[in-house]
Amino acid sequence: MSKQSFQTEVGQLLQLIIHSLYSHKEIFLRELVSNASDALDKLRYLTLTKDAFKSLDFDPKIQLEFHDGENPSLTISDNGIGMSKKELTDNLGTIARSGTKNFLSKMSGDAKKDSQLIGQFGVGFYSAFMVADQVEVSSKKAGAKEAWTWTSDGQSGFDISKGVQKESGTRITLHLNENGKEFANRWQIENLVKKYSDHIDFPIMLTYTDVEYDKEGKEKKTEIKTEQVNHAKAFWTRSKNELKTEDYQAFYQSISHGSDEAMDWVHVKAEGNLEFTLLLYIPQKASPDLFRVDYQSGVKLYVNRVFITDDDKDLLPPWMRFVKGVIDSSDLPLNVSREILQQNRIMTKIKSNAVKKVLSQLKTLSKDGDKYNVFFKEFGRLIKEGIYQDFEHKDALTELLRFKSTQSDDLISLKDYLGRMNDDQKSIYYITGQNQVSLKNSPLLELYTKKNVEVLLLDDEIDEIIISSVPKYDDKELKSVNRSGSADELGDDIDKDLEKSSKPLIKKLKKALGEKVKDVKLSTRLSDSPSCIVMDENDPTVQMQEILRSMGQADIPTIKPILEINPKHELVEKLKSDTNSFDDIALLLYEQALLQEGIKLEDTAGFVKRMNRLISTK
Ligand code: ADP
Repeated sequence: MSKQSFQTEVGQLLQLIIHSLYSHKEIFLRELVSNASDALDKLRYLTLTKDAFKSLDFDPKIQLEFHDGENPSLTISDNGIGMSKKELTDNLGTIARSGTKNFLSKMSGDAKKDSQLIGQFGVGFYSAFMVADQVEVSSKKAGAKEAWTWTSDGQSGFDISKGVQKESGTRITLHLNENGKEFANRWQIENLVKKYSDHIDFPIMLTYTDVEYDKEGKEKKTEIKTEQVNHAKAFWTRSKNELKTEDYQAFYQSISHGSDEAMDWVHVKAEGNLEFTLLLYIPQKASPDLFRVDYQSGVKLYVNRVFITDDDKDLLPPWMRFVKGVIDSSDLPLNVSREILQQNRIMTKIKSNAVKKVLSQLKTLSKDGDKYNVFFKEFGRLIKEGIYQDFEHKDALTELLRFKSTQSDDLISLKDYLGRMNDDQKSIYYITGQNQVSLKNSPLLELYTKKNVEVLLLDDEIDEIIISSVPKYDDKELKSVNRSGSADELGDDIDKDLEKSSKPLIKKLKKALGEKVKDVKLSTRLSDSPSCIVMDENDPTVQMQEILRSMGQADIPTIKPILEINPKHELVEKLKSDTNSFDDIALLLYEQALLQEGIKLEDTAGFVKRMNRLISTK
C-alpha cells in the first residue's frame, strides 16, 4: 500500500463539503448513482461502436446493498467502464474540473455564502465523505486485466492497492459514520432513489433481507431479495403529460448537480422527417465558469438514448451557454465525431430548432417582468453577446434586451421606451459609461432632463459594442448622447450675438488646451454645468478606447474628445475677463468634464495643484 496526499484543493473542498452541505447530506447517493450511470453510458457506447467491445455480454445495472447494525455500510456498484490505477488517482485525488477550481478561488470564508455557492455546482464523489468516515473504491477498467482499490478517510490522502475483481466496473463501499448510519435502511434508500434517480436510464437494484415473523413475533424465515427501485426510463423520453413540475425540477437538479431550481424549460419531441427530443433548461443562476474561456457545456448529446458527449460547446450557439439539458436524436450516427457533428445537416437543423424554442420560451418569460429581470440580471450579457454573434436571431434577441433608464428604476425594453416617447421625439437616446451613478449625474443629460426625454443608461462595458450593431429599432435611430451631434435635434439654437461674442474665447481655449482636445464648441445641451466632453460623430468614446486597449489593442491611436462649454455659465463668463488664471480655468473645465464621465485623469497631481491655486486666489 502506498499513501498519497490529496491535492491541496481537494482537502479544502472536502472540508467545505463536510461543513456546509450538511443539511443536504442525502445528495451523496444521487451523486454516486449519477457517476455509476455515466460509467454505464460510456461502456454502452463502446459496445455499440468499438469492435473490441461488441462481443461483450453487457447487462448494465447499478446495484445497492447495505448492512445495518454495528458497522453500517452502503455499497454502490456498477458494471460500467471502470477506472485504471491512474484514473483512480487523478479522478479521485485531484480536482480536474475547472469550474471547481474557479469556485474554490471565489470562496469567501463565510460558511453561509460558500454553501450557497457550492449548491450551484455540485460536489460529485466527495459528497460521500459527509456520510462516511472511510470510503473504498474498487474498480476494474473495461478491457484491462488488473483491478485496483482506492481507500481514504477523507482527511489527508488515500491509499491504492491491487484488488481482485472479475467483471469491469466500480464498487464503492461507504463505511457510514454517525451522520450516515440512517442510510443503511431499505426505505431510506428507496425513497432517495425515487426522489433523485428515478429517471436514470439503467435499472437500479436494491438488495435487502426480508424477514418473516411468526405469530409469536419470532423470525420465521429470512430471505435475501433484490428489487428494481427506479423507473429506468430516460427522463426526456417520457411523455410531457405524465411529468409534473417536481419531476422536471428533480431531473434538472440531477443534471446540474445542484440544489437550485430551474427557472424554466422547454421539452420538445419532434417526430416525422427528423426525430429528436430536446429538454433544455433555463437556470436561475449563472454557473461560476460561464464567463471563462474554458467553461463547461451544460448540454449532453445522446443518440437514441446512448450518451455521446457532454463536452461539445458547439451543440448550441455560444451565447446560449447558460442553457442546461439534453439533446437526443435517433437520426444521428452513433459514431459521430466532433468534426462530423459540426457539418452534420441533421445536427444543424436540431440546433436551429433548439435556438428557436429557447428564444420563444424567453419571449414568453419576458412577459413576466419580475421573473425576466432576474433572468436578465444573470444572463443579460449573453443576450448581448448573441446580438453581435448571431445575426440570424438578432431581431428576436434585441427584443430581449433590457436597459436601465433615466426615467425608471426598473429595467425597460426598447419597446417600452418607444411606447412612452414624446410625440415629437425623433430618436432613441442612450448614454454609455462605466458607472451608473456618474452616468445619471452626467452633464450630458441636462438637456434631456430639461426636455423630459428618457435616456437609456448603458453602463456595462460590452453595451457600447453591442449597441453599435443595433442602429435602429422600429424605424427610430438609436443615438448616443455622448456624441456631438445628438443634441442637435433637441437643443435650442444659440443666440447669434452670444455666438459672435464668444468667438475670441473659443479661440483662446483651443490654444490653451492644444493637443488635448479635437475641438472646442459652444454647447446647446448644458444648463447647470460649465462644460462637458463629447465625441465626434463617428469616433469611439474614451471608454470604448479604454476597453479596446484593455483587450490588447495597445496600438490604437488616441482619439480626442470635443469640449463643449456653456456660454451662460458663471465660470465661462469669468474666463472672458480673468486673464491671470485663464490657463488654469481652461484646463479645469476640461478635467472636470472628464471626471464627470467617470474617466481617469492623466495628471491628477497637476489637477490638484490647479484647484488649490484657484481656491487661494481671490
Ligand atoms: P464528476 O462526476 O462531476 O466529473 P466526481 O467527483 O463525481 O465529478 O467524479 C470524478 C470522476 O471520477 C468522474 O468524472 C469519473 O471520471 C470518475 N468516476 C467517478 N465515479 C465513477 C464510476 N462509478 N465509474 C467510473 N468512473 C467514475
